[in-house]
Amino acid sequence: MHALALRNPADRRTLLWVGITAALVALAYAMPGLAPWLSIVCCYFALSCGIIAHNHNHCPTFKSRRTNFWFSNIISIFYGYPTFAWVPTHNLNHHKFTNAPGDNTATWRFTNRHNIWMALSYFFFSSAWQSPAISAYIKQAKANNRGLYRQIVIQYTVWAGTHVGMLALGIALYGVTQGLLLWALVLGIPAFFSLWTIMLFNYDQHAHTDAASKYAHSRSFLSPTLNFLLFNNGFHYVHHEHAGTHWSKLPALHAEVSHLIPAELQQKSLWWYWLKQYFVSPFFPSLATRQMGAPPHTLASKTISSVTPARSSEHLEVGPASPA
Ligand SMILES: [Zn+2]
Repeated sequence: MHALALRNPADRRTLLWVGITAALVALAYAMPGLAPWLSIVCCYFALSCGIIAHNHNHCPTFKSRRTNFWFSNIISIFYGYPTFAWVPTHNLNHHKFTNAPGDNTATWRFTNRHNIWMALSYFFFSSAWQSPAISAYIKQAKANNRGLYRQIVIQYTVWAGTHVGMLALGIALYGVTQGLLLWALVLGIPAFFSLWTIMLFNYDQHAHTDAASKYAHSRSFLSPTLNFLLFNNGFHYVHHEHAGTHWSKLPALHAEVSHLIPAELQQKSLWWYWLKQYFVSPFFPSLATRQMGAPPHTLASKTISSVTPARSSEHLEVGPASPA
């Protein structure tokens, strides 16, 4: 078997995107005058690597487990954090509880108000609530699964080592100030932007949805442009229902069930939704979202588990990508 054989041909674009991400960083290091212009493009590609990390954890990209492991390491660099962290907080937790009590990424942790201040700060409180789950997962791996623990250590080493190495390379080539700026513009800021935006997407995909409902637990964004640019990440409802299904198949799955999903949870444009919810609705409250169903903090865990077994089981057999 060829080491680079893909499980799904649509992932040729995944590889192209990761290749472009690396090439942009190399170009900026060769021609640092371009770095301020390249920075915004690097932010988009780093965000793409975040989406790719999400997809890769649910549905590994390559047939070879070893290649999947090294691919996880490469995308960790651009995404901004070792990708194994998706497993305890997303695959094993968010997909099980879907914004109900027990979800480490719950959108209503401080308040169920849905406004720009919550959207902007969600990254910070969600990160704090995800942190213990990540630590517990590492501890468990160390005690019970040395192979997995070794992979986690390698991911942290490659991720941190590459960032420190690229920072040092920039300083060696162009001096302290220019080197630091170069690293920040094409690696540091894009990585932070990617982490922050991925969490904002999670916030928008679940704020004010009905965690106990079969068809209203997620908000989807259907714009073809957005879904081309972000590997169908807008089709969030069907992603929850079919967590192990490849991203390229989500539009067809959505079309099959779209008549069952409330219209307000099928937004056409993410930009229009942001404009309406965060900038216009403070002046015209009738345009704002309303909590659908019972407020999520009032739901009992057993209510939730009765509606989620199919949603939570598929990804478990995929698990983290690992070497042979
Ligand atoms: Zn997911």
